[in-house]
Amino acid sequence: MFARTYGATTLGVDGAIIDVEVDSASGLPGFDIVGLADTAVKESKERVRTAIRNSGIRLRQEKVTINLAPADMKKDSSGLDLPIAVGLLAAYGVLPQESVERSLFAAELSLEGECRGVRGVLPMAVQARDKGFEKIFVARENAEEALLVEGLQVYALQNLGELVRFLTGQEALEPAAPQAETGSGETEAFEDFADVQGQYQAKRALEIAAAGGHNVLMVGVPGSGKTMLARRMSSILPELSREEALEVTKIYSVAGLLRGGGLIRQRPFRSPHHTSSMVAMIGGGSVPRPGEVTLAHHGVLFLDELPEFTKKSLEVLREPVEDRQITVSRVHATLTFPSSFILIAAMNPCPCGYHGDPDKECNCTPGEIKRYTRKISGPLLDRIDIHIQVPRVKYEELSSRRKAESSSVIRARVEAARAIQLARLQEHHLFCNAQMNHALLQKLCVLEPQAQSLLEQAFRRLDMSARSYDRIIKVARTVADLAGAEKISAQHIAEAIKLRDDTGLGLE
Ligand SMILES: [Zn+2]
Repeated sequence: MFARTYGATTLGVDGAIIDVEVDSASGLPGFDIVGLADTAVKESKERVRTAIRNSGIRLRQEKVTINLAPADMKKDSSGLDLPIAVGLLAAYGVLPQESVERSLFAAELSLEGECRGVRGVLPMAVQARDKGFEKIFVARENAEEALLVEGLQVYALQNLGELVRFLTGQEALEPAAPQAETGSGETEAFEDFADVQGQYQAKRALEIAAAGGHNVLMVGVPGSGKTMLARRMSSILPELSREEALEVTKIYSVAGLLRGGGLIRQRPFRSPHHTSSMVAMIGGGSVPRPGEVTLAHHGVLFLDELPEFTKKSLEVLREPVEDRQITVSRVHATLTFPSSFILIAAMNPCPCGYHGDPDKECNCTPGEIKRYTRKISGPLLDRIDIHIQVPRVKYEELSSRRKAESSSVIRARVEAARAIQLARLQEHHLFCNAQMNHALLQKLCVLEPQAQSLLEQAFRRLDMSARSYDRIIKVARTVADLAGAEKISAQHIAEAIKLRDDTGLGLE
């Protein structure tokens, strides 16, 4: 007999429906899976047969052919176990074909017939809903994730036997009920700027960066708190909208990193080590999975010890930083992953780390320092609008009992500035100042006369490049937005000039 069921795999960060066609006929007993199946899917052959037997169902030996369509799409999901098992049971007449229609099945089976969670259930459920499916059957641990998609009945399964009894009408099974959305992210400790004493300049720079979506380079001696500051950046970015939260949750679902299953409500913070492989950074694998630049989507990518990253790693960062997405090419698919993040890079001022430190002596030669800083120059640096120095905090500041300003207070200012930018930029399909190109800057950034002359003076005196000139106006626009000012004043320009290269290293 012939039967058809539906499963799904992931393609980039989206789900893709897979037709599972099963044909069983008398003849030489056999069991074949055709249709560009990955090893994980080929292995499902044994799991499915054993799981069915251990669920107490005996099937006579026949010639079974399973076709996974579309044929040209690589399938890697162990979640195809369940639709294959269900299709097989329907082809043998154990399950009526009508009982499996308009339903999507996505779970791995253990040899005992237990249903196990798989990665990517959220994008699969989104796709199922969009394609008009009414029900999705998943393992219990994936139920909460599937429930994030409205307009789909979610059935949480413990094992195959339970599903068979339900589909044959022997046992009732209620759809899972959505729980109050608590969100998995909220259980994590939230790091707050209230705990950071001193560092007023760095905090101000990060507030401006958050407000305008600017990338930041922090230069400072070891122990100055660069990492601590960067970690708190996500806490002052605007709250994720539900749409953004779903995008982030989909990415973590595909990567298999969704803990707890609920909606991620916190902006991601990713800090890959400088020894991370290229695949780990940008994504990849035989069926490409998201890399760090995508896991940081809508959040912060922190690169500590920037000069230690390989030249190649820094080069590949160019595409996501410029285009807010990354293209990963493989034999069977070219996939695009979203990667819109704020880049925060940190480095020591010199190889030994103590150049310019009042307490410790630097033992690097000028040549060594030059070689060290030269590693990071070039196109990536061009895309970092704000360069600041982070000094070690003075003892008096550390020991002061006064609580610093909290992240929520800073975030309120950031959100107000973002709202102003959105109103100005949305007709150009942009949302923050850092995204403006030269032409837009000229059109949208009006400088007061004094601001104009201050900028001209600085341009000549500091021998600036055209890029630097644009960067200053962009940052000044954000400073003005934070102040609620319509035009850019001399004061705004002065702050932006300082932020352009406050590192003492002459990086440009
Ligand atoms: Zn040194």
